[in-house]
Amino acid sequence: MTTEQLKDKCRGSLVGGAVGDALGYPVEFIDSFNEIRTKYGENGLTEYDISYTWPDTDVSNRYALVSDDTQMTLYTAEGLLEAIRKDKPIVPMICNAYLVWFGNQVGKKVKVSYKSTMSQIKRLNQRRAPGNTCLTSLFSIYSGKEPVNSSKGCGGVMRVAPIGIYGASHDWTLEETVRIAGEVAEITHQHPLSTYSSGALAVIVQQCITAENIDSKSFKDIINKSVDVVANVYGEHVPAMENFRQIIIKALELEHNQLLDWKIIENNIGGGWVAEETLAIAILSVLRHIDDFKDCLICAVNHGGDSDSTAAVAGNIIGAILGYNAIPERYKTNLELHDLIVSVADDITTMMPTSIHT
Ligand SMILES: [Mg+2]
Repeated sequence: MTTEQLKDKCRGSLVGGAVGDALGYPVEFIDSFNEIRTKYGENGLTEYDISYTWPDTDVSNRYALVSDDTQMTLYTAEGLLEAIRKDKPIVPMICNAYLVWFGNQVGKKVKVSYKSTMSQIKRLNQRRAPGNTCLTSLFSIYSGKEPVNSSKGCGGVMRVAPIGIYGASHDWTLEETVRIAGEVAEITHQHPLSTYSSGALAVIVQQCITAENIDSKSFKDIINKSVDVVANVYGEHVPAMENFRQIIIKALELEHNQLLDWKIIENNIGGGWVAEETLAIAILSVLRHIDDFKDCLICAVNHGGDSDSTAAVAGNIIGAILGYNAIPERYKTNLELHDLIVSVADDITTMMPTSIHT
């Protein structure tokens, strides 16, 4: 693979996630595909709803807005890059970055060991339906306490793609990527299904970036390999590993199901509010539309569940497979923060480490 191809796939993953987030954000809290259809027409939501704003969002409507998923993903990237740049441990630095985001969400001054660039960007700090578990856990850390919860909400998995992008461009082992992404999710979400799903997403992204010409068969191989790596890292017989395997296998088995996408998701997987369902819906959407960025995201958005997160994760994966150049132009030009996201993706791809800490 040439350097240009690698760069294109890394950009594709980060921008793809933001496109999915922005497409799905207006229907995150709509409870069924039938309701989406009532609002947006027979085929559901298929283009950005530029008119959508979160109630206290004080910005122009020129762009499709991203939500907390993209905000936190960019803070993951900021912490990661800061750690690499300064040769510091990665997970604590990402935790610092999340504390900065938290402070801006709730109007508290948070002192951390670096100067945050993301903090200066208004759009990255407005409240865009942030997850309760993220806010509660970060409040605990801010208050000097260990967060304790058993949440498997999708707030972990939806923000770890930068770990896979970095792993792909810096030859990390798959085990290393799984472990770090899992720990990054555990900063706020401590149920093992969140940890496994987050580790799996990062390593799926990593493999989709480094492999060429992925078809549905090789994609399934990547998914199976990813589940095996997660099981190798955490142990085959630890709590919930079997549940994790089962839901991913179910997603793979639904590849050729005759029902419409939304029916398959609503009948067989669930709403994607929890991490393993988010990942399963994303995998299913990619598998059924592996050649088409737009169709993949339409599948991941149009169901009664957590549409922005399921489509953000699907976008991270399909973008890593097809690359930035395969994303339809209007999805890029109308995306809030597009130029920033591209430059962050390039920074992740080209940042040279002095040594690796975890
Ligand atoms: Mg969101």
